[in-house]
Amino acid sequence: MTSKKERTFVAVKPDGIQRNLIGEIIKRFENRGLKLVGIKMVVPTDEQIEAHYLVNPDFKTIVGAKTIESYKKKGENPPTEDPETQGQFVLDTLKKYMASGPIVAMCWEGVHAVEIVRKVVGGTEPRSSDVGTIRGDYVIDSYQLADTDQRAVRNLIHASGDKGEAEKEIELWFSKSELIDYRLVQEQMLYDVNLDGILE
Ligand code: GDP
Ligand code: MG
Repeated sequence: MTSKKERTFVAVKPDGIQRNLIGEIIKRFENRGLKLVGIKMVVPTDEQIEAHYLVNPDFKTIVGAKTIESYKKKGENPPTEDPETQGQFVLDTLKKYMASGPIVAMCWEGVHAVEIVRKVVGGTEPRSSDVGTIRGDYVIDSYQLADTDQRAVRNLIHASGDKGEAEKEIELWFSKSELIDYRLVQEQMLYDVNLDGILE
């Protein structure tokens, strides 16, 4: 079934807030037709960040293998050949990054919300993210610079990678009462089958 109520989790990371981009980022999702159903500002703890990334139990090995590969592509020796160890290192840099200040946690709803939000956000590395996406329009970091400086890539925003991740992340960051079911007038235009009631 195609749900008009698919939900995804988005967070404006600490650099997004310091760069005064909260409004700009929200605007991108509003413009696209998505509905904001939950929002709050929090200073995350290390434990919350760890739990957030480990909603995907394979996060460390996946991100570790990816960074080892990118060292090799540059003709450099990775700090370790073990994806799990490298992944733990990335996770530790993410804790420093994400717990450095407030973040804005949000839940957005709409048809294909997970997929569409990822498209609007753009690829992980700002250097290669498409122009027109949030990461491709507002920031310039690269894997090369971040890995050399032994820190996480600063890419302004987090968005759930798939529907499973979205469900777990929403549950982690929001209680049921913090998510609001309501109707937007524009939903009639986005979703109604017959578009009745426009002509007088
Ligand atoms: P995302 O879903 O696009 O945010 O990317 P991932 O889930 O793969 O990684 C989570 C976060 O870790 C990214 O948003 C970056 O901040 C950071 N990160 C991912 N890959 C790398 C990497 O190869 N090097 C560095 N320095 N940071 C990375
Ligand atoms: Mg991810």
